[in-house]
Amino acid sequence: MNFGLVAHRLHRLGPDSSLLRWARACAPGLQALGLGLYATGGAFDALTKYKLLADELTAVGNGRDGGLMRLVSRMAGGLQAADALEGVFFLIDPVDPTSIYPEALALKRQCVIHGKPFVSTLAGAMEWVAVELANAGLDATSVPEAVPLFALENQVAALIAHDALKDTMVAFAAEHFYTLSRFAGRVATGTTGGLLNAMAWSRGWPALQPWVSCYQSGPLGGDAQIAELVLDRRCQKVIFFEDPHVARQHEADIQLMERAVCSTQHPTTCYNTPTMAQRWARAEALQQ
Ligand code: PGA
Repeated sequence: MNFGLVAHRLHRLGPDSSLLRWARACAPGLQALGLGLYATGGAFDALTKYKLLADELTAVGNGRDGGLMRLVSRMAGGLQAADALEGVFFLIDPVDPTSIYPEALALKRQCVIHGKPFVSTLAGAMEWVAVELANAGLDATSVPEAVPLFALENQVAALIAHDALKDTMVAFAAEHFYTLSRFAGRVATGTTGGLLNAMAWSRGWPALQPWVSCYQSGPLGGDAQIAELVLDRRCQKVIFFEDPHVARQHEADIQLMERAVCSTQHPTTCYNTPTMAQRWARAEALQQ
């Protein structure tokens, strides 16, 4: 299995930068998984300088030479089977202008379309290696930094689904009701939250107690309200089933929320497809 690897300058400067911390913490796990990393220029150079992940890395060129564009093609399957990528670790700095270049947006979009993980925070990248280890029947605790991320009792989850995926969200929440009920709290955009509460009450959740706290509906600003919770460190996991196939009237709000989630320096993780959320939920259950 191969993943892309990208890190904005902020995340690759110096031995204590996010990229190098991740590489040191996850090296044994990546090796156990046999996970190859196709890295763009800056990430490749930083890891090579510090002699990390030498066996896992392949260079795809820097941004100016189209490195990020190549990752987009490979997320869609590439030009030959051996080039295909199964996900990407992309440590984003929201004020790096390249974070909104078309190739950066297309990379996330192709991940969503193909149900592949787009992992964009340090915590998310630590956690995702642990998730893959758990799903492979290997020792997820070999990434010690990921262990606290499995303690849901200290965290709040946001659940958001676009219209075409609302049924999938309700089915996901019903399937993993026990796991999701372990969170200290749950929040949702308005319409998604209403459906989730109805599901929870139908399963015997106390009638006067909402299972999720509802914010505005997405088009009325609910995504922005959840972004503020994330920025305030009051929401640590965002489970977001996005519909990339339709024009969205509140595209700016969606981007805002994703930039808040994808760029926090504190532990926040985001699962933006049903496939990714399922893999996380299975790993979470295996850790209990
Ligand atoms: P909704 O919002 O749950 O209120 O439909 C989701 C969204 O459109 O972002």
